[in-house]
Amino acid sequence: NDKKLDYEISRLNNNQRKAVIHENGPLFVVAGAGTGKTKTLTTRIAYLIEKMNVDPNRILGVTFTNKAAKEIRHRVNDLIYPNQMGAWLYTFHAFGLRVLRENAVNLNLGYKNDFTVIDEDDALAIIRDIIKKQNIDAKKYPPRMIKNFISNEKTFIRNIDDEVVRDVYDRYKLELIKEQLMDFDDLIVYTNKLFKENLLVRTKYQTLFTHILIDEFQDTDKVQYEIIKLLNNENTFVVGDPDQSIYAFRGARYENNQLFVKEFGAEVIVLDENYRSTNNILKAANKLIKNNNSRTTDKNLVSSFGDGVPIVVHLASDDFDEVRTVTNEIINLTSHKYNYEDIAVLYRNNHLSRLFEHSFMQTQIPYIIYGGISFYERKEVKDILAYLKVVVDTNSNFYLKRIINTPTRGIGNVTINKLEEYANFNNMSMFDAIDYVKFSAKTANSLKEFKNIINELKEKIEETKELVNIIDVLFVGSGYYEFLKEETDDKAKERKENIMELKNVFRQGDWNYEGNNIEKIKQILDELALYTDHDKDNQDLNVVKLATVHQVKGLEFKVVFVVALEDGLFPSDRSYMDPFELEEERRIFYVAITRAKERLYVTNTQRRMVYGQIKNNIPSVFLREIKNDEEKILPKKYSRETINKNTSSDDFKSGDIVVHDSFGKGVVVEVKDDIITIAFNVEYGIKKLLKNHPSIKKE
Ligand code: ATP
Ligand code: MG
Repeated sequence: NDKKLDYEISRLNNNQRKAVIHENGPLFVVAGAGTGKTKTLTTRIAYLIEKMNVDPNRILGVTFTNKAAKEIRHRVNDLIYPNQMGAWLYTFHAFGLRVLRENAVNLNLGYKNDFTVIDEDDALAIIRDIIKKQNIDAKKYPPRMIKNFISNEKTFIRNIDDEVVRDVYDRYKLELIKEQLMDFDDLIVYTNKLFKENLLVRTKYQTLFTHILIDEFQDTDKVQYEIIKLLNNENTFVVGDPDQSIYAFRGARYENNQLFVKEFGAEVIVLDENYRSTNNILKAANKLIKNNNSRTTDKNLVSSFGDGVPIVVHLASDDFDEVRTVTNEIINLTSHKYNYEDIAVLYRNNHLSRLFEHSFMQTQIPYIIYGGISFYERKEVKDILAYLKVVVDTNSNFYLKRIINTPTRGIGNVTINKLEEYANFNNMSMFDAIDYVKFSAKTANSLKEFKNIINELKEKIEETKELVNIIDVLFVGSGYYEFLKEETDDKAKERKENIMELKNVFRQGDWNYEGNNIEKIKQILDELALYTDHDKDNQDLNVVKLATVHQVKGLEFKVVFVVALEDGLFPSDRSYMDPFELEEERRIFYVAITRAKERLYVTNTQRRMVYGQIKNNIPSVFLREIKNDEEKILPKKYSRETINKNTSSDDFKSGDIVVHDSFGKGVVVEVKDDIITIAFNVEYGIKKLLKNHPSIKKE
């Protein structure tokens, strides 16, 4: 144990070591991608426990995604197993959940500590329900939009100024409390509220933690920053890279970096050697990020390896050509030097995965997609888990409503509404109300049958020796098995497989948790509730990864393809006129490039089918920015720049008809300095564009 840690510490460079063994006082490790920030953080955790005899229970380590949290646990585990046990190594959400599990009742809002966490879909369903009950026009107020407004208000991004939305928000809040539910935002926002308003609770956690360590600090938003500040720990250790701040759209605050140094009076350590990528890759990254004016420090990444192979830029003729090229190259790479797991294909938006998925299927390249429909969002999985939630807590009306008629057993909406009204009025659960409300004989029978199912499931689940068995118990007992048996298509088979897949989760629960069955189940359900971007738990398999850039933050791959580098896609069209957005897009591309260890491919295409229409696309401005004279271009090199050169850029005037490569025909409404306002088809509306942008031509 000790030897391994000693060895790892001896291999660190001076500044890394300085950060690892830093004694007291706040510290900010600020450094570019791949410079070993996460490694420094995990080694420090191991060092504190192993060498400084810090009690692991008094260390809090926080990061952003489940994958990253898992990686941190894994790395610390690797260094000092099993002495890391008890350390709080979580995402912000999981940390909030743990705090609220111990203190939600102290919020004085009516929450008990055993509330249930709901996912995005469930939250939307509740909002949809409110909209319906209040007779609100869902076209004018789409549930997703309302959810965003609510989320923005909760996390201090923007206040709600629409009365209808405010009313929905108030009802939503009450409904959640009544049903003992919290959404993801609540886990953070209520933790903050608790720390802010409750001196006892705050003091408890202030004294509990001797050390707090935060990874990916550049992505903290205002609420998260407040939480860290309220914990007021003199050994707060944060690592981050402002160039990789890519969550502004969710409220991440660039200024937190400076704030931390100022308000905590933190010492700053800079790391500058990159241990991940070759110099050719880093040169591209350096060149790119130089174009961001808002950078506070100009740092150049230098590789501790050699130059490596040149990066490859491929300009395809259309999207099929792009996919074919990537597919062939993967076949090529995996036929000698590389495994599938070494390779990632990254894009700006989820919808771009479809053609790659199709092609990989045809050529039998094994792959997984990060963050498609997550495993836990599938209907059958949610249904089975909902059964379990009702078994564990029959007061959970929300989940009871989900399954009372799934599979169908003749309990209609009228019955459910009646049951709910009675339960609300008499302050009891819907489950208990079943015994009191008068229904027709047939309905009453169905309801009784449902109640029996739940009671029997409960008995069996309490008795079973191994948790893994409960999936079979639920599958059969819920009626799901019978229901799927009657359907013989592939879908039904897949559904059955998904339910069976849950067995793996519960088998691990057998090992990882303590207590009786119900207690163990509660812990597993908590863990599952926080899964957002996990597709099963198979990221360790030998498969190619398809992912958006946001989903691979902090990760690394030997080979990276970044695809669809086209104007309007990457950078996305939101950033046409907004320099702030364009800089954010550039940081996203920077994150993408810096995932690559050995080989980097960047591709785009001239023509692409977007939402059923073929569009001529212009190469992304970022391609020009990373350009290197010695870069190698795959055959069929084709420069679009000459073709798109705008020859008549200076003489636009109001009333001119123009053609834009992506938006089609439009009329010039205004020309002012460098900016030209054009009215396109209703589909695109009015756009402000740079006058001499190569995508605009006079007709
Ligand atoms: P990102 O900004 O992408 O999150 P990071 O700064 O957190 O990157 P790490 O993931 O910690 O970087 O490290 C990048 C790679 O470099 C890892 O494979 C890590 O093991 C390796 N590494 C870090 N420091 C050293 C070192 N001193 N010697 C050898 N390898 C190192
Ligand atoms: Mg990292």
